[in-house]
Amino acid sequence: MALLNISEPGQSPRRKQDSKHALGIDLGTTNSLVASASEGGPFIISDSKESALLPSVVAYSNDENILVGQAALKSNEHISSVKRLMGRGAGDIKHELSYTLVESESSGMPLIETPVGLKSPVEVSAEILKVLAARGAKHFEKEVGNEEEQKEIEGVVITVPAYFDEAQRQATKDAARIADLNVLRLLSEPTAAAVAYGLDKKLEGNVIIFDLGGGTFDVSLMHLEKGVFEVLATGGDTALGGDDFDRTIMQWIKTESKIEIKQNHLAELSTCARNAKHDLSETDAVEVNFADWSGELDIGKYYQFIDPLIDRTIKACRRVLRDASMSIEDITDVVMVGGSTRSPRVQEKVQDFFKQPLLNELDPDQVVALGAAIQADILVGNKYDSDLLLLDVNPLSLGIETMGSLVEKIIPRNTTIPVSRAQEFTTFKDGQTVMSLHVLQGERELVEDCRSLAKFELRGIPPMVAGAAVIRVSFQVDADGLLSVEAEEQSSGVKSSIVVKPSFGLEEKEIESVIRASHSEAEHDRDLRRLKENEVEALRIIEATDSALAQDAELLDADELKAIQEGLISLQESLKSADADLIQQQSEALNELSVTFAARRMDSQIKSAFKGKKLEEVDR
Ligand code: ADP
Ligand code: MG
Repeated sequence: MALLNISEPGQSPRRKQDSKHALGIDLGTTNSLVASASEGGPFIISDSKESALLPSVVAYSNDENILVGQAALKSNEHISSVKRLMGRGAGDIKHELSYTLVESESSGMPLIETPVGLKSPVEVSAEILKVLAARGAKHFEKEVGNEEEQKEIEGVVITVPAYFDEAQRQATKDAARIADLNVLRLLSEPTAAAVAYGLDKKLEGNVIIFDLGGGTFDVSLMHLEKGVFEVLATGGDTALGGDDFDRTIMQWIKTESKIEIKQNHLAELSTCARNAKHDLSETDAVEVNFADWSGELDIGKYYQFIDPLIDRTIKACRRVLRDASMSIEDITDVVMVGGSTRSPRVQEKVQDFFKQPLLNELDPDQVVALGAAIQADILVGNKYDSDLLLLDVNPLSLGIETMGSLVEKIIPRNTTIPVSRAQEFTTFKDGQTVMSLHVLQGERELVEDCRSLAKFELRGIPPMVAGAAVIRVSFQVDADGLLSVEAEEQSSGVKSSIVVKPSFGLEEKEIESVIRASHSEAEHDRDLRRLKENEVEALRIIEATDSALAQDAELLDADELKAIQEGLISLQESLKSADADLIQQQSEALNELSVTFAARRMDSQIKSAFKGKKLEEVDR
């Protein structure tokens, strides 16, 4: 006889099999993690071989074998920090990269050169997501044991920085689609951290989330009230993080050891510096060994190096308080997030500034993923008793172009989302029946200083005198931070709307083709790659011909010289065409012209090598 478990409705302890499987994913610049809360409290899912942290690094090796994480780090040609490129135009990228970017002609998006063709940052991120999702799936497979029933991952919550704009959020969602994941929602990283610390259970408070990672620093000020989270202001520095701490130690090693560091020793030097840094979070002094040199670095000296960097984070905290018109006394909690907050010096300085103990009991690497897992679990309906509602803010103002190339802001920055706001506009010409709308994002006044998000038209406006028509333009931002805009002429009711497709995201059909083609190269990629290769080859030929002419032009008669020089010019001209066929043709033509020249140079070199030497000598 089976035993019946009797309990109050809604109170019954769920059996594991009943709960849906959801994942929380922290897709970081340096490291990524996956967590789940489907079995009670949230926990990090790690890989048996690898630690919990998955370095956000991808390597495409020649045989189309894609490496992710530690394995990719070992490859010479790995792609790191791809998060910085998400939803960005080629022109936005100002920092140095260890890989080569090619600007996509169709979308203006930067594409990364890899041995298997050009890859978009979105595709690279998708590879990281696939590995994390596979970890999750494997974990749940173990849980259901040998039973045939295989639990699907119901959905995921992926975290993004609070300041991520439309394009960056859309790019993150696109990556998830390519990885075949159902995104329940995107969650801002500081919100996730606050959830992980259970700050939602407190009645009320103003919380600082201090997140110092590998390459970026983010600080957010949130207001929490009865489970409602509101990001009041965000700030930080996208070029400040633990990597900068590493660099100060690298510099110290270089100066102290007087070793001339070659390019191929940089990786070794940087590992050495990072290890020393990690040790200095535990002890007062470390012995640093690099090549055959060794020296001691104590915290006194080390703190001199990093204090100016930490002071920059404090400055950003001050700015965020000012943005939200708050003072230190208004802050109820300070949460530490990101691997670099393990440094006692960072903790000391942040604590001194906020004049209160810090929340740092949770592993600072894991906080964001844990919070995302809790939220994912609620969203798939496992915790039906929870009414946790999360509100974020839009990080940059959204507006519309008006006469004189000016921007009229409709939703100011730091407005809580979801939000919808409208404003009325009118025609400026008699009988005007069409109005074009240009949606922009940014804080500046002039259109050219803001980021263009979308353009669309409202047609069919009844002809009226200028200024008579009333056109209501409404902006709506949903919980994921995605924008839709609608324009409606009030007397006739004609309307037109657009869901803002970010300027540098993938087109819908591109996503589909990426999904379909999965790992096989898209035709477009192949063409671009061929062009690139032909260009490189042409440059090589030009270089070689130039130097041959510089050395041995006297071996040619006037006509031959002229022909080669003309060939050079044609090839140089063809490079401007971006036409792979033409470049190849001109390269071959110049090669053809140079054949006799090359033969003559060879002859003359052999002759000069033989000059004055005995045969045995030459033979050797
Ligand atoms: P991100 O959010 O950018 O992906 P993480 O939060 O994973 O980055 O932080 C990575 C950074 O944390 C690296 O620079 C790493 O060296 C640093 N870090 C990790 N552990 C320690 C430690 N014990 N002491 C100091 N820095 C650390
Ligand atoms: Mg992080």
